[in-house]
Amino acid sequence: MSARPESHGRYVLANPAFCEITGYSTDQLGSVMFGDLCHPDDLETAAEMFGRLKSGAVEETDAELRVRRRDGSSIWVRQHRTVIEDEAGEPLFYLCHTEDVSERRAVEAAINVARGIADDALRESEERYRLLADYAADMIVCARADRTRSYVSPSCLRMLGYTPAEMMELDFSTFLHPDDKQRVTADYGQLVQRGGAVTHTYRLRHKDGGYVWVEAHWVATLVAPFADGTGLANTVIVSVVRDISERKAAESKIASMACHDALTGLPNRVLLRERLEEARLFVEAGGSAAVLSVDLDNFKAVNDTLGHAIGDALLQGVAERLLRCVRQDDTVARLGGDEFVVVLLGLENPEEAAQRGQTIVDVVSEPYELMGHQLLVGASVGITTSPRDGILPDQLLKNADFALYRAKAEGRRAYRLFEPSMAVDRQTRLETEGQLRAALADESFRIFYQPIVNVTSGAIVGLEALVRWQHPQRGLVYPDEFISIAEDTGMIVRLGEWVLRGACRHAAQWPATIRLSVNVSPIQFRAPRFVQTVCDALDASGLSADRLDLEITESVLLQESAGTLAVLNELRELGVGISLDDFGTGYSSLGYLRSFRFDRIKIDRSFVGDLLQRAESEAIVRAVVGIGNALGIATVAEGVETRGQLRRLRAHGCSEAQGYLFSKARPAGEITALLAASPGRNWGASTRISA
Ligand code: C2E
Ligand code: MG
Ligand code: MG
Repeated sequence: MSARPESHGRYVLANPAFCEITGYSTDQLGSVMFGDLCHPDDLETAAEMFGRLKSGAVEETDAELRVRRRDGSSIWVRQHRTVIEDEAGEPLFYLCHTEDVSERRAVEAAINVARGIADDALRESEERYRLLADYAADMIVCARADRTRSYVSPSCLRMLGYTPAEMMELDFSTFLHPDDKQRVTADYGQLVQRGGAVTHTYRLRHKDGGYVWVEAHWVATLVAPFADGTGLANTVIVSVVRDISERKAAESKIASMACHDALTGLPNRVLLRERLEEARLFVEAGGSAAVLSVDLDNFKAVNDTLGHAIGDALLQGVAERLLRCVRQDDTVARLGGDEFVVVLLGLENPEEAAQRGQTIVDVVSEPYELMGHQLLVGASVGITTSPRDGILPDQLLKNADFALYRAKAEGRRAYRLFEPSMAVDRQTRLETEGQLRAALADESFRIFYQPIVNVTSGAIVGLEALVRWQHPQRGLVYPDEFISIAEDTGMIVRLGEWVLRGACRHAAQWPATIRLSVNVSPIQFRAPRFVQTVCDALDASGLSADRLDLEITESVLLQESAGTLAVLNELRELGVGISLDDFGTGYSSLGYLRSFRFDRIKIDRSFVGDLLQRAESEAIVRAVVGIGNALGIATVAEGVETRGQLRRLRAHGCSEAQGYLFSKARPAGEITALLAASPGRNWGASTRISA
């Protein structure tokens, strides 16, 4: 619609459309002033705009305003005004193009009303959701495509130690664990681009520096137009982040349990296998490795006598020490019991493996202080090197075991390097076990007796029963070669009983002044019904109990439990004597001498052997004899081979002696004659019994 503009504020010309908008006829418009058509609320705006047009400040104006119609009603119009000038450039009249926009305005008003209502509802629901988010246990984060955050729920304080305000400031990537960073930021980028949802787990850094495992569910949403005031749709990533550190800890514990030993935390057989495979690859790539089989000497005795709590503590102590002996890339594994395996990588030469083996023997064999007990437990180590002895894990483990058996067989508390011949030896031991079992069934053993003499008078006061195995091919086999096998396999209980019964039977034939000494293995001592076995042997033979002397070693007393002492006291009540054998070689705790009144202490032959050569040995012998005399306990020197030794023992006040000087162990059949031939001999001065 258009209207001829006004002259001095009066309308000069108007078209029918303008007339229709305003409700005035063309004629009537002639007397209508510009201001009459203006809605009072828009009058000021209209006047101001018109003023600027008239003054030449602008060449056109454009505005939406309300026109007051002739009937008093108002109508929204859009008015575009321009100035028409004469040739001199002076304003001639103003042209006003008026467009009815009332319909659009009405729609907009309706929308605004509706939006007002909608806004209220939105606010309400927003509040509701914020409340939910604020109190949710999970952390809820709303982030924009550029990773800045628009909301962080307060649970972040509990989960990560940061306040929501602090979180808003920090970039997401600074929270991520270095190992997760690449994956998680890539996922985020994809989600922003493609939309959708993703759930994944990663670690977030806690304010204290540690990491928290979380499971996060990310959803990309498009925020509706207008909501952020720009009228443009925006991608927002809503993350619901759950703390799953407890679950992760449980999972990793389960995973770790599957390949770690629960007691020591060391890798178990499963993980060892993996490490051995790695070692194989390392060797195949030109490196070298060594596998060491480590076994504690007499661990079973410690466990059985001192109890499992101390046994466990000892194993933990051993594990710690083994770890001290290895480098970062090496492995210490526990296969169970007291069996440990060490895998060393990158050795300079086979000698290095030997040196490391020696270190392990030394370090593990140092005394342990456990729950008020001082323990001395030696270690034996078998070593195999790769590639020299092989590269396959099974082969290396087997080799190391062969070497370990050798170390144990040759006196323990030592290491041995694998040699191919050892595989044969192991086979031999297995065969020996089988033959020993058969020998037990056939009773292919003989009891020999070695005299014990009174140091002063030289008279034989007793005989110690020493068992020999009559082997069909090997002849007489000495106890050092089979007692430990019999102990390891439990056969010692039957063997010991056989010796006891046989020896009592023999001794019953000897003069009543002669004592019988019988060795008792710790395993036999702990066997149920041991006391009954002793009673039965005495009854069956008719030997009087006070002629029997049982030799036990300190390992029996390792656990001064009520049970051990009860057995000792029962034996004592029967009238049986008790000797402490091999004193000085084990723990040599004087406490044992206090807890039980022994009848005899047998000083180990290793001290007697160099009595004349080493001042230390002499000092020990003198001290033990001194203690024995002070406590009223007889002392027996073992392994006396020379008259010089005998003289020295006599000088120190030792009561009895035993050794090749007097006699080797002899078959039962020779004993009666021996006793008849040598009453009260003066061994130190004259002859010795020839073997
Ligand atoms: P042991 O009880 O200390 O017995 C003394 C060992 O020293 C015997 O060895 C004996 O022959 C040896 N011997 C004695 N005098 C001398 C000497 O002057 N010089 C040297 N070098 N050695 C001497 P054997 O008979 O070989 O027995 C070794 C060990 O086997 C015994 O040590 C004992 O612990 C054990 N044993 C022997 N018989 C039995 C048995 O019936 N039952 C149990 N449980 N153990 C036994
Ligand atoms: Mg003995
Ligand atoms: Mg002995």
